[in-house]
Amino acid sequence: MTDTTNETSKFEFKAETKQLLDILVHSLYTNREIFLRELISNASDALDKLRFQSNKGTEIADSDLDLEIKIDFDSEKNTITVQDTGIGMTRDEIIANIGTIAKSGSADFLQQLQENKEDANNIIGKFGVGFYSVFMVADKVTIKTKSFQQEAKAIQWESDGLGTYEIIEIEEPKKRGTEIIIHLKEDTKDYAEKYRLETIIKKHSNFISFPIKVKEDQINTVSALWREPKSNVKKEQYDEFYKFLSYDTDEPFETIHVSVDAPIQFSCILFIPKKDMDLFGFNRDNYGLDLYVRRVLIQHQNKDLLPEYLSFVKGVVDSEDLPLNISRETLQENAIFSKIATSVTNQVLSHLAKLAEKDNDKYNQFWKAHNKVFKLGYSDFTNKEKYEKLLRFNSSKCEGKDDIISFEDYVARMKEDQKEIYYKTGASRESINQDPHLEIFKGKDLEVLYLYDPIDEFAMSSLNKYKDFELKSVDQVDLSSLDKFEFTEEKDKKVEDLSQDDSKHFDSLLAKIKSYLGDKVKEVQESKRLKDSPACLVNPETGMSATMQKIMQQMNKDTSVPQFILEINKDHILIRNMLEVFKKDSNDDYIKNASEQIYESSLLLEGYLVDPHNLVSKINKMLEDSSNWYVASKDK
Ligand code: ADP
Ligand code: MG
Repeated sequence: MTDTTNETSKFEFKAETKQLLDILVHSLYTNREIFLRELISNASDALDKLRFQSNKGTEIADSDLDLEIKIDFDSEKNTITVQDTGIGMTRDEIIANIGTIAKSGSADFLQQLQENKEDANNIIGKFGVGFYSVFMVADKVTIKTKSFQQEAKAIQWESDGLGTYEIIEIEEPKKRGTEIIIHLKEDTKDYAEKYRLETIIKKHSNFISFPIKVKEDQINTVSALWREPKSNVKKEQYDEFYKFLSYDTDEPFETIHVSVDAPIQFSCILFIPKKDMDLFGFNRDNYGLDLYVRRVLIQHQNKDLLPEYLSFVKGVVDSEDLPLNISRETLQENAIFSKIATSVTNQVLSHLAKLAEKDNDKYNQFWKAHNKVFKLGYSDFTNKEKYEKLLRFNSSKCEGKDDIISFEDYVARMKEDQKEIYYKTGASRESINQDPHLEIFKGKDLEVLYLYDPIDEFAMSSLNKYKDFELKSVDQVDLSSLDKFEFTEEKDKKVEDLSQDDSKHFDSLLAKIKSYLGDKVKEVQESKRLKDSPACLVNPETGMSATMQKIMQQMNKDTSVPQFILEINKDHILIRNMLEVFKKDSNDDYIKNASEQIYESSLLLEGYLVDPHNLVSKINKMLEDSSNWYVASKDK
């Protein structure tokens, strides 16, 4: 393959690109104006990259050129031209950047398209495929570009967006930069008009930090909004800036604008969106704050200014105190940068704390929108105190599943003498409500936090304590520690206490059950926690709650069933009846069947029953028996 040639070479788009182009050309008709935003955004990126090289001291072709974006149009020829003096592209770069799609951008985008076509062209820029949006309005696109590298050749790229593109070396332009000539389709030629273009630029590209000129008139404001004193900025300006940054069509939920002068100077505008912007979990990397040094963009979507659990925050940070030529690689080791990051994180956390204090309802809205990500913060030990105050939970004392409380609320109404905060993880409020482990807590009116997310379990064991109160999963609590709390709701006993004799028989029954279950259980013992259920499984002191143990096992693809302790409720009617049978014939088959059944039902409740067949066939057998008895009793 020859590297330079002034003959035309023809290339085919990759299959994925073709598929994407096909959709863009044939099925997206709303909001096609965003093609201009995407081309301007690329021009601005190219200018940023050039400035970055220049700050680093790299030799640059045509260093006298102004850094700007020029838009021109010809309503006779039906063309629009977008030109920049940015970094440009070499022949290899244009093949790599425009001919093929980097990363998995188009696959993700195509998937999003399936979800919602209306939204798709609004968000196309987020997927690294923005350039192609030009084919929504063009039936031919010509790119002329010359790289900033000394002695680079000018290159022309041309395509009708249908399947192939052509590249040829050209004489013009003589100067560095890129020019994109859009040949408009019949039904989009009215874009080639000054007012129309200006309106689109104002709407979508007003905050681009390079001048955008339409036929020599500058359209955008190019002011760094974050450098303005707060009192000068109107709500509309913040909202507009937010929409520009986030691609959100909604207003921001909260806006934080601060300027700090000492010990380190920085200004920032941070936004909390109303909704989680990544509901489907696509595009996980699409977060971070834009970092500026003295109004020069150093890094788009910097991911170290805020911890990941605050990654729903959008915005910009600008500092006077960082060196302009700082490289992205060394940022993290820079002490000033770290201090800025710490301070930015604090700004967000204290803003949330203030919000929680003054407007609980609004804070709860925040929680509903962003808790999934926010909960990842359990490992931020530096900010533990601030962080844990912001957590919210559903609990046994809440009205319903949407009612939430803080640790502080819990502590304020906990029992005198209570040293622990109790929690239980489960699939839903209903399932936790019915969990046998909870019976004693209900009986003693002890509040239990209800957690529904697997991550909650990690969060709780990692936080370990709130203030002086230990966080304890209910199936891990040492029951003797509950003795000091009275039963508020007297156990409405259906049965008499066991006689001394029967107590002995009961102990033998437990031993019998153990002999049937063998190694499946560690021990079978009398339960102190149960009220309504016949039995439950508890963890021998592994220090890990049953749910946590389950999560760990799932992570390790371990399907084995751990050895639990089986606790038996001696006041339950079923157990009393078993005892009667046992006293008459200690080897009655009924005891064996019932023991196995009780064990497997308990496993099922804990989420450990892998194969339900055995359980179901036993239930069916028992139903069959009981139906016979029932019919017989009716016949009497
Ligand atoms: P993204 O901007 O998210 O990378 P695009 O599809 O918009 O995705 O652009 C693809 C790539 O093409 C860019 O990353 C860049 O390398 C290159 N490119 C596009 N426009 C220009 C331009 N005006 N100047 C230099 N390079 C450009
Ligand atoms: Mg782009």
